[in-house]
Amino acid sequence: MKYLEPSKEIDVFGEYDVIVVGGGVAGLTSAIASGRNNAKTLIIERFGYFGGTATASLMININGFRNQVEPDSTQTVKGIAQEIIIELYKMKGLGKSPYPQKEYDIEKGELSYSYCIDPEKFKYITLKLVYEAGVDILFHTYFSDVIKNGNELKGIIVENKSGRGALFAKVVVDASGDGDVSARAGVPFWQASSDDKALKDNIMYKISGIGNADFGNCRYDDSSVVWGPGGVWGQNNAWEISKAEIKTRLQIFEHFNSILEKNPQLKQVGAYVAETPPMIGIRQTRFIEGEYKLTADDAITGRRFDDVIAISSCPIISYYGYRRYLEHEGYDIPYRCLVPKDIDNLLVSGRCISSEQQPYESHRAMAPMMAIGQASGTAAALSAKNDVKPRYLDVSVLQDTLIQQGAELRKR
Ligand SMILES: Cc1cc2nc3c(=O)[nH]c(=O)nc-3n(C[C@H](O)[C@H](O)[C@H](O)COP(=O)(O)OP(=O)(O)OC[C@H]3O[C@@H](n4cnc5c(N)ncnc54)[C@H](O)[C@@H]3O)c2cc1C
Repeated sequence: MKYLEPSKEIDVFGEYDVIVVGGGVAGLTSAIASGRNNAKTLIIERFGYFGGTATASLMININGFRNQVEPDSTQTVKGIAQEIIIELYKMKGLGKSPYPQKEYDIEKGELSYSYCIDPEKFKYITLKLVYEAGVDILFHTYFSDVIKNGNELKGIIVENKSGRGALFAKVVVDASGDGDVSARAGVPFWQASSDDKALKDNIMYKISGIGNADFGNCRYDDSSVVWGPGGVWGQNNAWEISKAEIKTRLQIFEHFNSILEKNPQLKQVGAYVAETPPMIGIRQTRFIEGEYKLTADDAITGRRFDDVIAISSCPIISYYGYRRYLEHEGYDIPYRCLVPKDIDNLLVSGRCISSEQQPYESHRAMAPMMAIGQASGTAAALSAKNDVKPRYLDVSVLQDTLIQQGAELRKR
């Protein structure tokens, strides 16, 4: 059944050089980079803080600053991602990662493969950095549609407490994780069906009151976040996401009881379920078709690209059912994976960039996601300021800017 919505005049909420849709790790780093490159920037986010999966779904292990195993001598992600980790370190906001890895000396500015973060301190630091970059922030705001003229994106339509409004931009960065903007704009995309080898969704939850008990996957202070019930498949369908929330949330206490049974010390110290996050952790949905699609071979062979804008050295976490570590220092992510087919004035950032399943299972980790975010925001700002469509941006200028601003590109 369909309903024909009557057309009506709506308010214009603002006009910007760059609008970033979504404040997950990819979106927040994109907004910081855009703001720091002097573009008039707005970020919209449906929750009241940044972090997306990292905070709103309590996924508090940030992986991927270098290879988890040897060869791991190159730190492949630096820039804004590194800055966030150093700020967290100064605030005592880092915990020990549950992943086996060689520890590098953060005092010397060298990051290890993975860190566990305190999500509240992460919310604080990321808000501070976005705010200090001079970015306008619209929280509790939902992207709902695009404003287009032919193949050119002109802006977006949002919904929030103020009603429905239009926002115009020279460049929009789709950091919604799900590729919402790109899909609405008509960019072709693919997504795995439920019977494919796609990574399924899990609800994470926090156990507190752990005291001295010898327990903890992602542990900070007196708490630990655990991988809760999962195996469900939310996709982009509100009914399916609701079903996934219902199914996993109804299993939380049964899950917790099984943890208590296996860890009697937790029972003794009186550990309890302290928090379930606002949202189940969604691992993968749409993948946008870009000017280049990363392949399994690119990741496995450690391919280098002339238009590199970020690097991933993370394992492919479910390569034919096993965790396949990379036998090299990382593969390049080309700028073309952020440039969608068919639609202009749009860049894609984060987990929905143009990729096949297997490389996605590597660069989905949050450190490379933040490097991609920094690149997308920098590219958006350069495009807007120079009045050039992102598709035609001089990539060498983008790369030079990224390197000057601390990113690692291993450029020859
Ligand atoms: C259960 C689970 C375990 C994981 N384990 C790890 C791990 O151990 N280590 C690791 O590094 N990575 C892990 N990952 C992967 C990693 O967390 C994600 O790939 C990464 O966080 C994705 O970042 P993103 O910014 O692209 O997307 P998201 O985090 O999905 O952010 C998208 C943002 O956009 C907002 N948004 C979406 N749609 C709209 C809309 N229409 N309007 C307004 N706002 C919108 C969302 O609220 C969100 O803030 C895991 C993921 C899951 C789900």
